[in-house]
Amino acid sequence: MWENKMNYHKYYSVDVVNGPGTRCTLFVSGCIHQCKGCYNKRTWKVNSGKPYDKALEDKIIQDLQDTKIKRQGLSLSGGDPLLPDNLSVILRLLQRVKNECPNKNVWVWTGYRLQDLTDEQKMLLSYIDVLIDGQFIESEADKTLVWRGSQNQIIHYLKKLE
Ligand code: SF4
Repeated sequence: MWENKMNYHKYYSVDVVNGPGTRCTLFVSGCIHQCKGCYNKRTWKVNSGKPYDKALEDKIIQDLQDTKIKRQGLSLSGGDPLLPDNLSVILRLLQRVKNECPNKNVWVWTGYRLQDLTDEQKMLLSYIDVLIDGQFIESEADKTLVWRGSQNQIIHYLKKLE
């Protein structure tokens, strides 16, 4: 049975802003980091936004498989995709992307630092090509940075991109 355990705020089926190339981007609900200056405060509550369901997941997979508008991959942001409450749904989505959309890369933005991830969070890493980690720290904010907002955040290329 398909169980929904996650909410989301926005899904962009064609996005050229969040990650390289043309992509699909999902902004999930739920974040505990409460960064000062957060660009997306309304996503903090896990029950904010709308329920993520099988219809949306099927749509994401179909969009990634679309040959008319070719997407490089999937971007996951929020909110925090690695919030413990979101892990089971995100893991299932990433497993589907790997199995049904080979050659698509996955970029994930999280407020957790790579070195602090729990074993449960680490289970997702094998499905992620690029992880941008760390909270947004206003005093280290830098508008010239690409794919990240503050100097402390690190772009981890976990796998070599095609
Ligand atoms: S981790 Fe991201 S979404 Fe969460 S509070 Fe910080 S900036 Fe906002």
